[in-house]
Amino acid sequence: MEIIFYPHLTLRHRSKPLKRVDAALRKVVAEMFELMYEANGVGLAANQVNLPLRLFVCNLAAQPDEGEQCVFINPVITSRKGASEREEGCLSLPELFGSVKRPERVTVEAYSLEGKKIQIDTSGMMARVVQHEIDHLSGKLFVDYLSSLKRNKIITRVQRSEEHTSELQSL
Ligand code: ZN
Repeated sequence: MEIIFYPHLTLRHRSKPLKRVDAALRKVVAEMFELMYEANGVGLAANQVNLPLRLFVCNLAAQPDEGEQCVFINPVITSRKGASEREEGCLSLPELFGSVKRPERVTVEAYSLEGKKIQIDTSGMMARVVQHEIDHLSGKLFVDYLSSLKRNKIITRVQRSEEHTSELQSL
């Protein structure tokens, strides 16, 4: 398993809902957390590791022994409120950051790794991570929110692979 990078086609894949949680899936999730921590990320969607599964993992602390490890299986946003704008990055678009406007508060329904239905009402950084990762599962990337001028500029920057000094964490 490895993280795939833009413009890999799987990043545009719309994942289908999972039917069950089993040992194989738990192994996938454990490997995803490992890769996410290695890359110093706070969130990772299954299609970022080239798997067509509707799930993502996250931990705002970006450290295995800190924060809270969360797994969202078949996540759906059921309510959106407010608006906030903040810089985002993505593990599949290394070293790139752009300001994205999103709802400030969201309610998410999903299944846990124990197969239980969960509902989370969240705001701030967690709401942003959840929305960024659910976008991945629909084949959407944060650069899609930027103007084409800005998007082309940062994609040219990937090709030139300029050094980037931002210390923001990627999702
Ligand atoms: Zn991402």
